[in-house]
Amino acid sequence: MPLVPTASVVDRARAAGAGAPAFNVLHLETAEALVAAAERAGIPLILQISENCVRYHGSLRPLLLATLALAESSGADVSVHLDHITDPGLLREGVEAGARSVMIDASALPYEENVAVTAELTGWCHAHEAYVEAELGEVGGKDGVHAPGARTDPGEAMAFVDATGVDALAVAVGSSHAMRARTTVLDKELIRALRRRLPVPLVLHGSSGVPDEELRAAVAAGMTKINISTHLVSVFTGEVRRTLADSPSLIDSRKYVGPAREAVSAEAERLLRVLGAEAS
Ligand SMILES: [Zn+2]
Repeated sequence: MPLVPTASVVDRARAAGAGAPAFNVLHLETAEALVAAAERAGIPLILQISENCVRYHGSLRPLLLATLALAESSGADVSVHLDHITDPGLLREGVEAGARSVMIDASALPYEENVAVTAELTGWCHAHEAYVEAELGEVGGKDGVHAPGARTDPGEAMAFVDATGVDALAVAVGSSHAMRARTTVLDKELIRALRRRLPVPLVLHGSSGVPDEELRAAVAAGMTKINISTHLVSVFTGEVRRTLADSPSLIDSRKYVGPAREAVSAEAERLLRVLGAEAS
């Protein structure tokens, strides 16, 4: 199947009252695991590569091109998105290399600068037919949408979307990044208020710390794109640990990465069914 635009995954999910699951790729095996999960579930999926992940690999193109190739050859609807991009050079490189969906993360800047940088890069992205997500946390909040106590103000969010022209907005409604326990309670009232007032789909970051029922409640309240990374990473690493503990003399890395890839795929399939709607 050809690469699917993020807009179509997000818009279809929103129209169906479902979530648009967005899971992070760390290396080729996670991309393989996630695409296989989407194929078994028959549910559209957004694959994301973060700037942190690009820094880990030392360059963008090899992992991006491999992920695009997997998405294009998949039997499922899969889009490819760049996550938390703070470096405008990297953003341009990614779009020019074939990524048609990016998150511009200027949230560490003061509000006025966040607006200016996001508006300029959004204009460039739209001229290159790329979908843009941005984020808006609390005024003065250093960690954008990821500070545990941060909340996005609906009026300010409307002004931000208006001034920047972004296609989707990550908002602060009670989740935070890199949570290990799935215990977060989200502010559903705020999600409903944001959904009522904002013309664009809402994105939840830091969803790893949110239990299944709470994720479903967030989608029902109006959240659409649901980003999950840490939870799936912990499933991968847990399986590697188990395999190595059971077989301390193992040498071939495929013998412990392979089972971890399968474990991630099974959990991703489960989460896709919790969040998403089947492709029509
Ligand atoms: Zn995030």
